[in-house]
Amino acid sequence: MRFQCTDCGAELTVEQARNPYICSCGGLLDILHDFRAVDSERLKREFDSRLSERMTPYASGVWRYKELIHPLLPEEYIATKYEGNTGLYASSAVAAYAGIRELKLKAQSENPSGSFKDNGMTVAVSHGRYLGYTKFTCTSTGNTSSSLAMYAALSGCSSFVFLPEHGISMNKVLQTLAYGAHLLSFPGTYDDGIRFSESYSEAMGLYVCNSMNPFRIEGQKSIIYEIAHQLRWQLPDWIVVPGGALSNATALGKGLKDLHELGFIDKLPNVAIVQAEGASPFHAMMEAGHNILKPESNPSTRATALNIGNPPSWKKALQYTMKPNRSVTVSVTDTEIMDAKAQVDRGGIGCEPASAASVAGLRKLVRQGVIDKESTAVCILTGHLLKDTDAIHEYHLDTDTKGTFASVFQNSKLEWSKIRQFVEAAR
Ligand SMILES: *Cc1c(COP(=O)(O)O)cnc(C)c1O
Ligand SMILES: [Zn+2]
Repeated sequence: MRFQCTDCGAELTVEQARNPYICSCGGLLDILHDFRAVDSERLKREFDSRLSERMTPYASGVWRYKELIHPLLPEEYIATKYEGNTGLYASSAVAAYAGIRELKLKAQSENPSGSFKDNGMTVAVSHGRYLGYTKFTCTSTGNTSSSLAMYAALSGCSSFVFLPEHGISMNKVLQTLAYGAHLLSFPGTYDDGIRFSESYSEAMGLYVCNSMNPFRIEGQKSIIYEIAHQLRWQLPDWIVVPGGALSNATALGKGLKDLHELGFIDKLPNVAIVQAEGASPFHAMMEAGHNILKPESNPSTRATALNIGNPPSWKKALQYTMKPNRSVTVSVTDTEIMDAKAQVDRGGIGCEPASAASVAGLRKLVRQGVIDKESTAVCILTGHLLKDTDAIHEYHLDTDTKGTFASVFQNSKLEWSKIRQFVEAAR
């Protein structure tokens, strides 16, 4: 395992690469593995055999793939809640809404803290423990902090969490507090918090678990490994993922590259990265045909997990996800996101607003003819339905903001004739 700077290409050893994983030139570090000695067929059988593990780290949907994520980490440092192991659901209702022949939804919402952040956080916290840290930190739009606080608590360590005071779902703030995090709410944006932790964390002895921590990306690669494993190494034509900080989009591209290089899959699927219109600097860059990202100083979207104007991992996403594949980007409005969420929710799967950007983006790309309606797709649902209960209230109950697919809610006395009407009126 080596580290390489995404900007200047400098190579560092494990000993040289240090918290918070910024190169002297200011670039982010990326982890490189040498898989040349790996016997893919043997490893594939090993992954299969681990599906029957119970109480060992290999029962985790992340650590099952340890050889491809963090091969050298001694097992005793692993902090796991058997994360991953999430459902991949076929949904004909959501497929019909998106206008595509076949759609499966990967419910990363089913992770222990309720979002895909657990896939990466288990690796970052485990590595931090290995390095001897007992204090962990992150800046977050909410889910990273919930996840960090959970793993820190599980390990008997402490967490220090920096949250922008506006635009964060209260459910996530409360979840983070409940796990015992020391919480600092600050005036400013996610991007301000990231800059702060880059500069000062190491001086305070805090191990930085933002997505600039490359172990997060390594762990998040397990999402695509697990999808491929669940589909017996036959991936669909398209994988669709929401993009905020672009760590997940990066991990998706990088994980696909691993699977392809190891011969686990024989062709690379196309990837679609979906941003919210109010926070879409990456999509704007791709659309303009530029290769330098212009940050948005006032990002604004109801999908709070996507409210990022200066995505730290944009260069990695460009390198790993846009370049090797016939990948595309798209942006969707908050209304499109909330309508797609209502469809995913009433499909019995459920997700938070940011996650539904994937379904909204797929629908838009099918309508634009970019994605063929006869193709197959997997949308990644990143966070749990209960992560933003205000959004549910606004969509289904508030008269001012009620959405197109709002569910039926009626308040009345238990009178037979009224209730009969209520039932008969239902479709
Ligand atoms: C973090 C997050 C995202 C965005 O992922 P990035 O890696 O920041 O692009 C999307 N949805 C949810 C629910 C998230 O928590
Ligand atoms: Zn560098």
